[in-house]
Amino acid sequence: MSKVKYYYDSETLSYRKIESKRGRKIGYVILFITSVVLCSFLLLTIIFNTALETPKEKVLQRELANMKFQYDLLNKKVAHAEAVLANIEERDNNIYRLYFEANPIPEEQRKAGFGGVNRYEALYNYENSDLIVETTKRLEILQKQLVVQSKSLDEIAKLAEDKEEFLSSIPAIQPVNNEDLTRMASGYGFRNDPFTKARKMHWGMDFTAPKGTPIYASGDGVVIRADNSASGFGKHIRIDHGYGYVSLYAHMSKYNVRKGKKVKRGDLIGFVGSTGRSQAPHLHYEIRKNGDKINPINFYYGNLSAKEFEELLLNAAKQNQSLD
Ligand SMILES: [Zn+2]
Repeated sequence: MSKVKYYYDSETLSYRKIESKRGRKIGYVILFITSVVLCSFLLLTIIFNTALETPKEKVLQRELANMKFQYDLLNKKVAHAEAVLANIEERDNNIYRLYFEANPIPEEQRKAGFGGVNRYEALYNYENSDLIVETTKRLEILQKQLVVQSKSLDEIAKLAEDKEEFLSSIPAIQPVNNEDLTRMASGYGFRNDPFTKARKMHWGMDFTAPKGTPIYASGDGVVIRADNSASGFGKHIRIDHGYGYVSLYAHMSKYNVRKGKKVKRGDLIGFVGSTGRSQAPHLHYEIRKNGDKINPINFYYGNLSAKEFEELLLNAAKQNQSLD
Protein backbone atom coordinates (compact mmCIF):
# COMPACT_ATOMS: atom_id res chain seq x y z
CA MET A 1 0.00 0.00 0.00
CA SER A 2 1.26 3.36 -0.77
CA LYS A 3 1.30 6.09 1.77
CA VAL A 4 -1.50 8.60 1.76
CA LYS A 5 -0.11 12.13 1.77
CA TYR A 6 -1.83 15.26 2.97
CA TYR A 7 -1.23 18.96 2.59
CA TYR A 8 -2.57 21.97 4.45
CA ASP A 9 -5.04 24.05 2.52
CA SER A 10 -4.85 27.56 3.89
CA GLU A 11 -8.11 28.62 2.31
CA THR A 12 -10.25 25.95 3.84
CA LEU A 13 -7.98 25.72 6.86
CA SER A 14 -7.91 21.94 6.65
CA TYR A 15 -5.66 19.08 5.58
CA ARG A 16 -6.43 17.70 2.17
CA LYS A 17 -5.34 14.45 0.58
CA ILE A 18 -2.63 14.89 -2.02
CA GLU A 19 -4.00 13.28 -5.22
CA SER A 20 -1.51 11.10 -7.06
CA LYS A 21 -0.74 11.92 -10.77
CA ARG A 22 -2.31 8.63 -11.80
CA GLY A 23 -5.64 10.18 -12.66
CA ARG A 24 -3.94 12.65 -14.97
CA LYS A 25 -1.91 9.86 -16.56
CA ILE A 26 -5.08 7.91 -17.36
CA GLY A 27 -6.48 11.05 -18.97
CA TYR A 28 -3.42 11.31 -21.21
CA VAL A 29 -3.65 7.65 -22.23
CA ILE A 30 -7.32 8.02 -23.19
CA LEU A 31 -6.52 11.12 -25.23
CA PHE A 32 -3.67 9.29 -27.00
CA ILE A 33 -5.82 6.26 -27.89
CA THR A 34 -8.63 8.45 -29.15
CA SER A 35 -6.31 10.38 -31.47
CA VAL A 36 -4.71 7.15 -32.79
CA VAL A 37 -8.13 5.71 -33.55
CA LEU A 38 -9.21 8.95 -35.19
CA CYS A 39 -6.09 9.16 -37.34
CA SER A 40 -6.41 5.50 -38.39
CA PHE A 41 -10.01 6.09 -39.31
CA LEU A 42 -9.11 9.09 -41.44
CA LEU A 43 -6.27 7.20 -43.13
CA LEU A 44 -8.48 4.20 -43.83
CA THR A 45 -11.20 6.43 -45.27
CA ILE A 46 -8.67 7.93 -47.69
CA ILE A 47 -7.31 4.51 -48.69
CA PHE A 48 -10.76 3.02 -49.16
CA ASN A 49 -11.94 6.00 -51.17
CA THR A 50 -9.18 5.57 -53.69
CA ALA A 51 -9.39 1.81 -53.93
CA LEU A 52 -13.12 1.45 -53.89
CA GLU A 53 -15.06 3.76 -56.17
CA THR A 54 -18.70 4.42 -56.22
CA PRO A 55 -20.62 2.97 -59.21
CA LYS A 56 -20.93 6.44 -60.72
CA GLU A 57 -17.18 6.98 -60.53
CA LYS A 58 -16.63 3.63 -62.20
CA VAL A 59 -18.88 4.64 -65.10
CA LEU A 60 -17.04 7.95 -65.45
CA GLN A 61 -13.65 6.22 -65.42
CA ARG A 62 -14.80 3.88 -68.17
CA GLU A 63 -16.06 6.78 -70.24
CA LEU A 64 -12.76 8.59 -69.79
CA ALA A 65 -10.80 5.53 -70.89
CA ASN A 66 -13.04 5.15 -73.91
CA MET A 67 -12.58 8.83 -74.76
CA LYS A 68 -8.80 8.42 -74.66
CA PHE A 69 -9.08 5.38 -76.88
CA GLN A 70 -11.26 7.29 -79.36
CA TYR A 71 -8.82 10.21 -79.36
CA ASP A 72 -5.99 7.82 -80.18
CA LEU A 73 -8.04 6.36 -83.02
CA LEU A 74 -8.82 9.87 -84.26
CA ASN A 75 -5.12 10.69 -84.19
CA LYS A 76 -4.40 7.64 -86.34
CA LYS A 77 -7.02 8.73 -88.85
CA VAL A 78 -5.55 12.24 -88.89
CA ALA A 79 -2.12 10.69 -89.54
CA HIS A 80 -3.57 8.82 -92.51
CA ALA A 81 -5.18 11.97 -93.90
CA GLU A 82 -1.86 13.81 -93.42
CA ALA A 83 -0.03 11.12 -95.40
CA VAL A 84 -2.53 11.26 -98.29
CA LEU A 85 -2.39 15.04 -98.36
CA ALA A 86 1.42 14.98 -98.25
CA ASN A 87 1.39 12.80 -101.36
CA ILE A 88 -1.00 15.18 -103.15
CA GLU A 89 1.17 18.14 -102.16
CA GLU A 90 4.26 16.42 -103.48
CA ARG A 91 2.59 15.76 -106.82
CA ASP A 92 1.25 19.30 -106.81
CA ASN A 93 4.73 20.78 -106.35
CA ASN A 94 6.72 18.35 -108.48
CA ILE A 95 4.35 17.61 -111.35
CA TYR A 96 1.40 19.96 -111.73
CA ARG A 97 3.00 23.22 -110.69
CA LEU A 98 6.24 22.28 -112.43
CA TYR A 99 4.43 21.42 -115.65
CA PHE A 100 2.60 24.72 -115.68
CA GLU A 101 5.73 26.64 -114.69
CA ALA A 102 4.33 27.82 -111.37
CA ASN A 103 6.61 28.08 -108.34
CA PRO A 104 6.27 25.23 -105.85
CA ILE A 105 4.57 26.17 -102.57
CA PRO A 106 7.13 25.90 -99.74
CA GLU A 107 6.53 23.40 -96.94
CA GLU A 108 6.45 26.15 -94.27
CA GLN A 109 3.68 27.93 -96.13
CA ARG A 110 1.61 24.78 -96.49
CA LYS A 111 2.01 23.67 -92.88
CA ALA A 112 2.05 27.01 -91.12
CA GLY A 113 0.29 26.79 -87.75
CA PHE A 114 -1.84 29.49 -86.26
CA GLY A 115 -0.58 32.50 -84.37
CA GLY A 116 -1.80 33.62 -80.98
CA VAL A 117 -0.49 32.20 -77.70
CA ASN A 118 -3.92 31.83 -76.13
CA ARG A 119 -5.50 29.92 -78.98
CA TYR A 120 -5.66 26.67 -76.98
CA GLU A 121 -5.92 28.24 -73.51
CA ALA A 122 -9.37 26.83 -72.83
CA LEU A 123 -8.08 23.33 -73.48
CA TYR A 124 -5.33 23.42 -70.84
CA ASN A 125 -5.41 22.56 -67.12
CA TYR A 126 -7.12 19.21 -67.60
CA GLU A 127 -5.68 15.77 -67.09
CA ASN A 128 -5.86 15.03 -70.85
CA SER A 129 -5.00 18.51 -72.08
CA ASP A 130 -1.93 17.38 -74.05
CA LEU A 131 -3.89 14.81 -76.02
CA ILE A 132 -6.71 17.21 -76.80
CA VAL A 133 -4.46 20.16 -77.70
CA GLU A 134 -2.26 17.96 -79.89
CA THR A 135 -5.23 16.55 -81.80
CA THR A 136 -6.82 19.96 -82.21
CA LYS A 137 -3.56 21.42 -83.53
CA ARG A 138 -3.12 18.60 -86.04
CA LEU A 139 -6.65 18.98 -87.33
CA GLU A 140 -6.29 22.75 -87.70
CA ILE A 141 -3.03 22.40 -89.63
CA LEU A 142 -4.66 19.76 -91.83
CA GLN A 143 -7.52 22.14 -92.46
CA LYS A 144 -5.11 24.89 -93.48
CA GLN A 145 -3.16 22.52 -95.75
CA LEU A 146 -6.41 21.62 -97.51
CA VAL A 147 -7.21 25.28 -98.13
CA VAL A 148 -3.71 25.92 -99.55
CA GLN A 149 -3.96 22.81 -101.75
CA SER A 150 -7.40 23.77 -103.00
CA LYS A 151 -6.16 27.25 -103.96
CA SER A 152 -3.16 25.73 -105.73
CA LEU A 153 -5.45 23.51 -107.81
CA ASP A 154 -7.57 26.53 -108.74
CA GLU A 155 -4.41 28.26 -109.94
CA ILE A 156 -3.39 25.20 -111.94
CA ALA A 157 -6.83 24.92 -113.54
CA LYS A 158 -6.42 28.52 -114.75
CA LEU A 159 -2.89 27.84 -116.00
CA ALA A 160 -4.11 24.71 -117.83
CA GLU A 161 -6.75 26.81 -119.54
CA ASP A 162 -4.08 29.30 -120.66
CA LYS A 163 -1.79 26.48 -121.73
CA GLU A 164 -4.57 25.00 -123.85
CA GLU A 165 -4.99 28.36 -125.54
CA PHE A 166 -1.23 28.57 -126.04
CA LEU A 167 -1.07 25.06 -127.48
CA SER A 168 -3.88 25.71 -129.96
CA SER A 169 -2.35 29.05 -130.96
CA ILE A 170 1.20 28.18 -131.87
CA PRO A 171 1.76 26.88 -135.43
CA ALA A 172 1.76 23.10 -135.15
CA ILE A 173 0.60 21.52 -138.41
CA GLN A 174 1.88 21.34 -141.95
CA PRO A 175 -0.03 24.00 -143.93
CA VAL A 176 -0.59 21.71 -146.95
CA ASN A 177 -1.98 18.18 -146.75
CA ASN A 178 0.73 15.60 -147.11
CA GLU A 179 -1.20 13.72 -149.86
CA ASP A 180 -1.42 16.95 -151.90
CA LEU A 181 2.33 17.37 -152.02
CA THR A 182 4.17 16.39 -155.17
CA ARG A 183 7.40 16.78 -153.24
CA MET A 184 8.96 18.79 -150.46
CA ALA A 185 11.13 21.09 -152.49
CA SER A 186 13.33 22.82 -150.01
CA GLY A 187 13.89 23.28 -146.33
CA TYR A 188 15.17 26.07 -144.14
CA GLY A 189 18.86 26.81 -144.61
CA PHE A 190 21.34 27.72 -147.33
CA ARG A 191 19.99 26.83 -150.79
CA ASN A 192 20.69 27.75 -154.41
CA ASP A 193 18.60 30.71 -155.49
CA PRO A 194 16.37 29.51 -158.37
CA PHE A 195 16.98 32.70 -160.32
CA THR A 196 20.57 33.71 -159.61
CA LYS A 197 21.79 30.19 -158.70
CA ALA A 198 23.78 31.83 -155.91
CA ARG A 199 23.88 30.25 -152.44
CA LYS A 200 21.66 32.15 -150.11
CA MET A 201 19.68 31.65 -146.97
CA HIS A 202 16.22 30.22 -147.51
CA TRP A 203 14.16 31.37 -144.53
CA GLY A 204 11.24 29.00 -144.86
CA MET A 205 10.07 25.70 -146.31
CA ASP A 206 8.74 25.14 -149.82
CA PHE A 207 5.88 22.72 -150.29
CA THR A 208 5.44 21.81 -153.96
CA ALA A 209 1.82 21.25 -154.91
CA PRO A 210 -0.38 21.92 -157.93
CA LYS A 211 -1.94 25.36 -158.33
CA GLY A 212 -5.21 25.55 -156.39
CA THR A 213 -4.16 23.13 -153.62
CA PRO A 214 -5.76 24.25 -150.30
CA ILE A 215 -3.55 25.98 -147.72
CA TYR A 216 -4.50 25.74 -144.05
CA ALA A 217 -3.78 27.96 -141.03
CA SER A 218 -1.22 26.16 -138.89
CA GLY A 219 -2.52 27.58 -135.59
CA ASP A 220 -5.26 29.80 -134.09
CA GLY A 221 -4.74 33.51 -134.65
CA VAL A 222 -5.65 36.66 -136.55
CA VAL A 223 -4.86 37.41 -140.22
CA ILE A 224 -2.68 40.51 -140.05
CA ARG A 225 -1.82 40.66 -143.75
CA ALA A 226 -3.46 39.31 -146.94
CA ASP A 227 -1.87 41.26 -149.81
CA ASN A 228 0.83 41.20 -152.47
CA SER A 229 2.72 44.33 -151.47
CA ALA A 230 5.64 42.57 -149.74
CA SER A 231 8.58 42.17 -152.10
CA GLY A 232 8.94 38.67 -153.61
CA PHE A 233 6.16 36.93 -151.69
CA GLY A 234 3.42 37.69 -154.22
CA LYS A 235 -0.04 37.12 -152.78
CA HIS A 236 0.71 36.26 -149.21
CA ILE A 237 -0.93 35.90 -145.82
CA ARG A 238 0.49 36.47 -142.34
CA ILE A 239 -1.23 35.15 -139.25
CA ASP A 240 -0.44 36.49 -135.77
CA HIS A 241 -0.80 33.60 -133.30
CA GLY A 242 0.08 35.58 -130.19
CA TYR A 243 2.89 34.57 -127.80
CA GLY A 244 5.30 36.14 -130.32
CA TYR A 245 4.48 33.74 -133.17
CA VAL A 246 3.64 34.78 -136.76
CA SER A 247 3.26 32.37 -139.69
CA LEU A 248 3.63 33.43 -143.33
CA TYR A 249 2.19 31.80 -146.49
CA ALA A 250 3.52 33.08 -149.85
CA HIS A 251 3.06 32.81 -153.66
CA MET A 252 -0.68 32.07 -153.30
CA SER A 253 -3.02 32.05 -156.28
CA LYS A 254 -6.11 33.04 -154.28
CA TYR A 255 -7.07 34.16 -150.74
CA ASN A 256 -9.83 32.57 -148.74
CA VAL A 257 -9.60 35.08 -145.84
CA ARG A 258 -9.16 38.81 -145.44
CA LYS A 259 -7.03 40.90 -143.10
CA GLY A 260 -8.55 41.02 -139.60
CA LYS A 261 -10.18 37.60 -139.86
CA LYS A 262 -9.85 35.31 -136.82
CA VAL A 263 -8.83 31.82 -137.83
CA LYS A 264 -8.59 28.43 -136.16
CA ARG A 265 -5.92 25.86 -136.81
CA GLY A 266 -6.84 23.92 -139.97
CA ASP A 267 -9.02 26.70 -141.46
CA LEU A 268 -8.71 27.06 -145.24
CA ILE A 269 -6.98 30.41 -145.81
CA GLY A 270 -6.05 30.27 -149.53
CA PHE A 271 -4.70 28.26 -152.46
CA VAL A 272 -1.27 27.37 -153.80
CA GLY A 273 -0.02 29.48 -156.71
CA SER A 274 3.16 30.92 -158.16
CA THR A 275 2.75 34.67 -157.62
CA GLY A 276 5.74 36.86 -156.72
CA ARG A 277 9.32 35.65 -156.95
CA SER A 278 8.46 32.01 -157.67
CA GLN A 279 9.64 29.50 -160.22
CA ALA A 280 6.79 27.00 -160.05
CA PRO A 281 3.55 26.54 -158.05
CA HIS A 282 4.48 25.99 -154.41
CA LEU A 283 3.80 27.28 -150.92
CA HIS A 284 6.64 29.14 -149.25
CA TYR A 285 6.01 28.84 -145.51
CA GLU A 286 7.77 30.74 -142.72
CA ILE A 287 7.45 30.91 -138.96
CA ARG A 288 8.63 33.94 -137.02
CA LYS A 289 9.13 34.08 -133.29
CA ASN A 290 9.49 37.60 -131.87
CA GLY A 291 10.50 38.77 -135.34
CA ASP A 292 13.16 36.08 -135.94
CA LYS A 293 12.62 33.66 -138.78
CA ILE A 294 12.89 30.19 -137.30
CA ASN A 295 13.01 26.70 -138.83
CA PRO A 296 9.41 25.51 -139.39
CA ILE A 297 10.56 21.89 -139.35
CA ASN A 298 10.00 21.75 -135.60
CA PHE A 299 6.36 22.84 -135.87
CA TYR A 300 4.57 19.97 -137.58
CA TYR A 301 3.98 17.66 -134.65
CA GLY A 302 0.26 18.37 -134.86
CA ASN A 303 -0.57 16.30 -137.95
CA LEU A 304 2.39 14.23 -139.09
CA SER A 305 3.12 10.64 -138.13
CA ALA A 306 6.62 9.77 -136.97
CA LYS A 307 7.38 8.20 -140.35
CA GLU A 308 6.05 11.19 -142.29
CA PHE A 309 8.07 13.50 -140.12
CA GLU A 310 11.21 11.46 -140.68
CA GLU A 311 10.69 11.70 -144.45
CA LEU A 312 10.06 15.42 -144.22
CA LEU A 313 13.23 15.83 -142.19
CA LEU A 314 15.26 13.97 -144.82
CA ASN A 315 13.81 15.96 -147.71
CA ALA A 316 14.17 19.28 -145.96
CA ALA A 317 17.84 18.60 -145.26
CA LYS A 318 18.66 17.97 -148.93
CA GLN A 319 20.94 20.64 -150.30
CA ASN A 320 18.72 21.34 -153.27
CA GLN A 321 17.56 24.45 -154.94
CA SER A 322 14.69 26.37 -153.42
CA LEU A 323 11.67 27.54 -155.39
CA ASP A 324 11.70 30.69 -153.20
ZN1 LIG B 1 10.65 29.32 -150.42
